[in-house]
Amino acid sequence: MSAFIGKYADELIKNAKYIATPGKSILAADESTGTIGKRLSSINVENIESNRQALRELLFTSPNALAYLSGVILFEETLYQKTTDGKPFVDVLQENNIVPGIKVDKGTVDIAGTNGETTTQGFDSLAIRCQQYYKAGARFAKWRAVLKIGPTEPSELSIQQNAQGLARYAIICQENGLVPIVEPEILTDGNHHIMKCAAVTETVLAAVYKALNDHHVLLEGTLLKPNMVIPSSDSPKVAAEVIAEYTVTALRRTVPPAVPGIVLLSGGQSEEEATLNLNAMNKLEVLKPWTLSFSFGRALQQSTLKTWAGKKENVSKAQEIFLGRCKSNSEATLGKYSGGSGGELASESLYVKGYKY
Ligand code: 13P
Repeated sequence: MSAFIGKYADELIKNAKYIATPGKSILAADESTGTIGKRLSSINVENIESNRQALRELLFTSPNALAYLSGVILFEETLYQKTTDGKPFVDVLQENNIVPGIKVDKGTVDIAGTNGETTTQGFDSLAIRCQQYYKAGARFAKWRAVLKIGPTEPSELSIQQNAQGLARYAIICQENGLVPIVEPEILTDGNHHIMKCAAVTETVLAAVYKALNDHHVLLEGTLLKPNMVIPSSDSPKVAAEVIAEYTVTALRRTVPPAVPGIVLLSGGQSEEEATLNLNAMNKLEVLKPWTLSFSFGRALQQSTLKTWAGKKENVSKAQEIFLGRCKSNSEATLGKYSGGSGGELASESLYVKGYKY
C-alpha cells in the first residue's frame, strides 16, 4: 500500500512546507514540568505554574523575534495557557504566523536486558490526544526517541524499537491532522570519534525511513529532527566545517527528497556552536533537497533564561537576547551568519549527561 492519503493530506503537506520556510524555523519550548524545573532551578526560580507561564510569555511576546520562527513546540500545559492579559498563547503565535506544535510523547523507559537503552512511551490514547490538540490549535507534534552510542550500542533491538515507535507515532499524528516531527536523537555521551557518530546516524536514519515507509507515512507531511553529527562529549572539538560535512553527508545518504525540512536539535552544544554548525551546513555547496534549519531548545533559550533570572525588570533585556539568537539562527539557515553574536553567555556548553527532555 502507498503512503497515507486521508482527509488531512493537503493540510499536512501545506503546514510541513510552511514550517520549513527558509529563514524561519522552530523554537522548542516544550520542556516537560520536570525539565523546565531544572532550567528554573539553575536561575533559582521556583518550579510553579506562574513562573513557567512567565518564561513562556517572555519568549512568545518577544518583540520582533517571532518573525524568525515558523513553529513553536509547546508542552500540554502551555498549549492551554494565556498571557497575563488573558490572550491564549496559541492566538499570540497564530497572529504572528507561527504554527503551534505539541510534544506528545511521555518520556522514555529502559528496554529490559540492554545497557540502559530506551524506548519512548505515549501511545495510550495518542489518537484522542492528537484530536484534542488539533482542536486547541496545534498543527504539528513532536516525539523524541533517544539512542546512545557505546561499545555495543545502539543495539539492533533499540534501533528497530525506536524506528517502529517513531513510525507508529507519525501515522497516528497524520490520521489526526498533525504534522509529525520525527526525532531520533543520538546522544553525544561517550568517547567515540565523529566517524562513529556519522555511521550510527546513517544506520538509525535508514531504519527510521524504512519504518516510515512500512507504516505508510506521507513523507511530504513530515519533518525530521536529527542530531548533528559531532564528536562525543569526551572527545576534542572539531571545526564547524567538519561537522557540516559529516552531518550533510549522513542526511543526504538517508533522508528522501520528499521530506520538506530537516530541523536539527542542538543536543547540549553551546548556543554559538549550534548556530555556527548550522551555518556551515548551509554554506556547503552540495545539493540539499530539503530545507536545513533548526528546532533548538537549549541553544535558543539559555542566555535568555540567564539574563531573565526570574525578574520582571530583566524581561526586556532577556527578550533582546532572545531576538539576537533567533536572528542569528535565521541567518544560519541561509548560510549567512558571520558569528560572534551573544558574547560569552552564548558560548557556554549546555551538555548534560544522559539528557532527558
Ligand atoms: P535541544 O535543542 O535542547 O537539544 O532540544 C530540542 C528538543 O526539542 C529535544 O527534543
